[in-house]
Amino acid sequence: MKFHVMTLFPEMIENGLGTSILGRAAEKGVISYEAVNIRDYTLDKHGKVDDYPYGGGAGMLIRAQPVYDAYQAITASFEQKPRTIYLTPQGRTFDQKMAAELAKEKELVFVCGHYEGIDERVLEKIVTDYVSIGDYVLTGGELPVMVMIDAIARLIPGVLHNDVSAETETFHNDLLEYPQYTRPEEWQGKKVPEVLLSGNSKKINEWRLEQSIEKTKLHRPDLYAKYEQKQEIIKRLSKKKRQNIHMMELLHRGLGEVVYDKGMDIVLKFENLYMLHAEDVVSARELLMKVPTGAMVITTQEFVRDLLEKEFGKTGFCKCSQAVCTRKEALTVRYKDIRQLDITYLEYILEHYTSSEEHMKECLNAGVMYGAFDEDRIIGFIGMHSEGSMGMLFVEEEYRKKGIGASLESYLINLQISNGFTPYCHIIEGNEKSMALQEKLGLYVADTPLWWIW
Ligand code: SAM
Repeated sequence: MKFHVMTLFPEMIENGLGTSILGRAAEKGVISYEAVNIRDYTLDKHGKVDDYPYGGGAGMLIRAQPVYDAYQAITASFEQKPRTIYLTPQGRTFDQKMAAELAKEKELVFVCGHYEGIDERVLEKIVTDYVSIGDYVLTGGELPVMVMIDAIARLIPGVLHNDVSAETETFHNDLLEYPQYTRPEEWQGKKVPEVLLSGNSKKINEWRLEQSIEKTKLHRPDLYAKYEQKQEIIKRLSKKKRQNIHMMELLHRGLGEVVYDKGMDIVLKFENLYMLHAEDVVSARELLMKVPTGAMVITTQEFVRDLLEKEFGKTGFCKCSQAVCTRKEALTVRYKDIRQLDITYLEYILEHYTSSEEHMKECLNAGVMYGAFDEDRIIGFIGMHSEGSMGMLFVEEEYRKKGIGASLESYLINLQISNGFTPYCHIIEGNEKSMALQEKLGLYVADTPLWWIW
């Protein structure tokens, strides 16, 4: 990811981002940034960039010309118009969700205002997003841009040592993080809670969840209300767990947003994917109105599938069976050499699995692809799709019938169980081999099919 910051004070950005975690990430080349001085682009012979506002009023405004020329210089070699963010107290308030969304971009351009702001005409021409970091007014966009870059960068794989830490902390899954303690065990008569010394990870996780819930209830009732709503929906969906596991896990893993929720009329959203459960045909028709035209839909209800075909013009249908692993204990993994894959395996994966390059890159960068190795040669892989289902299983011809596929899947199942997740997968209709594997591993297949529709 490259951050381009347009500013009148580039040294503020360089000093602010050059140290600690972000400094190291830039040295490693995981992220990079440039601070572009807007003043370098002014055509004014005295180097001036600001002027009085038409119509009068306090303060000065940055003129359109130097901002536009700086922007042109930055983006001259870009293939497409980048997300260009103007920091302004008038913008949408920055939050963790926006950080996660922006972390997926390759290039981000930021425009820092100063004085009373920037001539509106250039903003209209270049800006795609107006973002504020809170309801107060600062003297310039430099501190806000550093806040944003810090929050975005730490979600990029490789920036933090331990990628899991970004997943468990505050704001993930609408809960605040639990309290943490380090040595000594006792400080000023206060002891570290007993359970954290027990070594029992199940008990520790339960305690942490309890603490998170209590803290969120107390300090952020607004967030807690969201969490509670999701738990309520999970409860309702759990009456048919095998059929609804994809929706339950989307919420449980903190991935999905609730678009609509009343009784068993439920619409969840994850990026461009909508998961829909309707009480009946009448409500299904209403719910489908809430789904944007180009979106992908998942449903387990045939009448929803039919409506999408007949009334909503969808033409792509992939019929699957949904299988769930309800066990809580780890499976035995017989094939031992299984490793997490990084982006260097992109070409190998695309050679053996039909998918878009974009999707595979996303999975590899998210650290959810695992490979089986013979010596140092990769011989197969498995992964988790971004909405949570397991899939993409492949084993090279000469290594088949040796239980390597079963080991890869068991390995992925164990990882999810240890995170408190319920593993599940979608088997495309007619894939008997995969169905046999799921049965062998003890997964339960739902008695209704599931459709991916686009
Ligand atoms: N006159 C502007 C208005 O009322 O919207 C405020 C200008 S402010 C003094 C100068 C610059 O600081 C802005 O152009 C913007 O880039 C930045 N800024 C100030 N407060 C901010 C905030 N809460 N979030 C993001 N940027 C902010």
